[in-house]
Amino acid sequence: MNPVFAIFPPSRIENDRVQIIQTIAEMQSTADAVRAGGQRLALVPTMGALHEGHLELVREAKKQADHVTVSIFVNPTQFAPGEDFEEYPRTLEADMNALEDAGGVDVIFAPSAEEMYPFGLPPYTSVNVRDLDRYLCGAFREGHFEGVTSVVSKLFLACRPNLAIFGQKDAQQLAIIRRMTIEQGFGIDIFGHPIVREANGLAMSSRNRYLNPEERRQARVLSQALQHAAGLAGGGERTVAVLVDAMREIVASASLARLQYAEVVDAETLQPVTALHSGRFLAALAVFFGETRLIDNTTFEIAP
Ligand code: AMP
Repeated sequence: MNPVFAIFPPSRIENDRVQIIQTIAEMQSTADAVRAGGQRLALVPTMGALHEGHLELVREAKKQADHVTVSIFVNPTQFAPGEDFEEYPRTLEADMNALEDAGGVDVIFAPSAEEMYPFGLPPYTSVNVRDLDRYLCGAFREGHFEGVTSVVSKLFLACRPNLAIFGQKDAQQLAIIRRMTIEQGFGIDIFGHPIVREANGLAMSSRNRYLNPEERRQARVLSQALQHAAGLAGGGERTVAVLVDAMREIVASASLARLQYAEVVDAETLQPVTALHSGRFLAALAVFFGETRLIDNTTFEIAP
C-alpha cells in the first residue's frame, strides 16, 4: 500500500455531532438532495488543522448559503518531494470541535487518499492551468498548483456546491482557481476572503505551529514588509524595484528569516511588472524560518 493511504484511516472518523462523509458517491447524493430542496450549497476546501482563518471562511459561507460543507483532505499531489506532506498536522478531532464552536457546519467531507485516487499515485487525470502557475510560488513548488487544481476540481465534482470560498492568503491559488472555474464551466461562484491575521500581523496558517516563539515573533516582518511596499506605492512610488528592495530589507532585518521571493505582479494575470501604471497589483512574499515556509501578500490599486 502506498504510505500516504495509511495516514487517515477511516476508523478514526466517528462522531455524532456533524455528518462526516468519506465517499464521493455519498457526498454527491447528499449535495443533490440539498440542491433538489432548493437550498444553496457552499464549500470551504481545507487541509484541516483548522485555525481562525479557516473559521472566518466558514462563517462567511454560512452567511451566503443554506448548507455548508467543509472538506478536509491533505492532498498528497500538491506536496513536492521533500515538502512537509508527512509532517502536515492532522487534527480531525480538534477540527470538529473548532467547527462546532464556530456554530457548526452541515457536512465534513473527509475522503481517504484511496477514495480520491482509486488508481494510486500519481493519478492518470490532472487539471492544469497554464501560465498562471509560472510565477510566485509556482516557480519554486514544482507541480504544486497542478495538484491543487486537480484536487479542487475533484472536490467541486464531489461536493457540487453553488459557491466556494477560498482565502486571499493563497492569492495565486485563488487567481488560478477563478480561471479554472470559468474556463471549465463549473458554474460555481468563487469568493475570495481577506487574510485573517494574528495580533502581530502574522497571517494565520496551519504551518505557524511549526514556528518556535522567536521565529513567530520575527515572522511579523512579512506583513510589515508588505504594508511598507503598499505604503510606498500609495505615496506615489512607481518603480517596482524600489518596492521589492524595501521588502527585502525589512525581511533581512529578521535574523532568522531566509527570503525565497519578494515580488510585485499584476493581481489578475500574476505577470511580473517593472513599473506601476494604473491597475490592481499584488505584492507577495515567501520566507523561510528554519524549515517552515511562510507566505503572505497584499493587493493595492493604482488609479489611472
Ligand atoms: P489550507 O487548509 O491551508 O489549504 O487552507 C484552506 C483555505 O483557507 C484556503 O482557501 C486558504 O487560502 C484559506 N486560509 C488559510 N489561512 C488563511 C488566513 N490566514 N486568512 C484567510 N484565509 C486563509
